[in-house]
Amino acid sequence: MSVLTVSGHPLQRAGAWAVAVLADCRSPEDVGPGNLDAVAAVLVADVVAAATAPKEASRYDWWKVLFALYPNSKATHSKRPSDAQVLRPAIEELFAPDTQGGPSWPCTFCAAPSAVVWSKTNLPLFDTSKALNNLPPKLPGWPVCRGCRVAMWALPYGAWVTAGSATVLSCESPEAEREFTRRNVRRARKVMQTGFNGLQAGAKPEAVMLAALRGAGSGLCASTLWSFKNDNQEPWLRVTRTRRAVPVFLERVDGNAPLRRGWRLLCRSLDQYDPETGRVVGGQGAAARLLFEAEDGRSRLLLGQVHRLLSDTDEAWSLSDRRALGALATAYAKEVFGMDVDVEPVARVLAEWIARGSSPRGRLAEYRKAALNDYQLGTLLVQAHFRLQLDGVGTQVAGPEAWKPLIGRRPRAWELRMLLFARVCELLQERGVAVSADPADTGTEEDSAEEDRPAFAATDEEYDGYDAYDMEGV
Ligand SMILES: [Zn+2]
Repeated sequence: MSVLTVSGHPLQRAGAWAVAVLADCRSPEDVGPGNLDAVAAVLVADVVAAATAPKEASRYDWWKVLFALYPNSKATHSKRPSDAQVLRPAIEELFAPDTQGGPSWPCTFCAAPSAVVWSKTNLPLFDTSKALNNLPPKLPGWPVCRGCRVAMWALPYGAWVTAGSATVLSCESPEAEREFTRRNVRRARKVMQTGFNGLQAGAKPEAVMLAALRGAGSGLCASTLWSFKNDNQEPWLRVTRTRRAVPVFLERVDGNAPLRRGWRLLCRSLDQYDPETGRVVGGQGAAARLLFEAEDGRSRLLLGQVHRLLSDTDEAWSLSDRRALGALATAYAKEVFGMDVDVEPVARVLAEWIARGSSPRGRLAEYRKAALNDYQLGTLLVQAHFRLQLDGVGTQVAGPEAWKPLIGRRPRAWELRMLLFARVCELLQERGVAVSADPADTGTEEDSAEEDRPAFAATDEEYDGYDAYDMEGV
């Protein structure tokens, strides 16, 4: 008999998956009464150990996680007993089976009969029991069944946690949800053993999410990340989403060497020097974040970042690196936005016009200024078109019909202009026109170990070669 249901509530959902992974069950529906008892015992032991740990112990870091989620609970209250034996019964009571025979109400999450009501102290992002307007009528809190009580406290195992916040996933693919949870449970164990200092700096939940999606082989699949802090003073919630086609894009990148190279260059460009460790970190997480769109529309996206890299005149891209980044942007636009406009004919017009100038550098500067602006690009194209016709260039010159999608005020025209810019620079560099600083002699091949590494291995774990089978036959 299942004692646990996955609901649509993102926190309960993440917790239910965490219970399943902790109990080594395939899914939350497979969790039986014995499994739930075992997970409750794990929670009690870990909570008591964290709540009674001295401040300098690594275990204390897990208490910080609990504090960020359940700031006024019996486990995190400043007046909690410091003796584990005294604290334990209060924690055990949180997950005790419902008393039979008394009144019960439908569980807030799954509608199962529940004899226990909880409020903000034990439920992240819920109101206090004083918020009468939001509570079920005549109840001092929200009814929560035992399965959901265990789930709501298994939540930090399945979430990507920091000392002050947590991030959970809801996704159309149960496999990806399970995989995201599995990786986080492993990470939670590490936090308990070594504290946050033992983890790789600069890691991000978005990278774990991409690794999970990739591992799940999900096809079309939308996913949402919910990051929050349940602070007493300033609780916050940030929601970001990936488009449904992102897994298809990931698969394409994984199966194609130039695209993998483009992704790696993007990651490297976002790496930052960490003065504490002397290591350069964080690029993979920051690149993964570019695939997520914030609800408020204020997110930095992949095409914008690639454009910034390719238009940076100080950056010395070799031709193959420039091609790899351009190919990455084109693949993203095609797979994720469904953009299928061929910018090649217009790119050739512009490259030809720039290369034929008495000062190609001057013309390139002119194009660079107009590149992303619909009106200015239109004016420049008129000028380039007629110049090339006057000069009697032998090849067919693409006319206004071909420019239309690039200079009209229509959706995605801005993204198209970025792809056009990338291709123009590539064509110019092929012809030997100086596009940016002299390309550094980085060689054209990366070393083979790097080349074989999958693009979306998880951030928090050292790559152990486990995923190498996917690369066979590529
Ligand atoms: Zn429930």
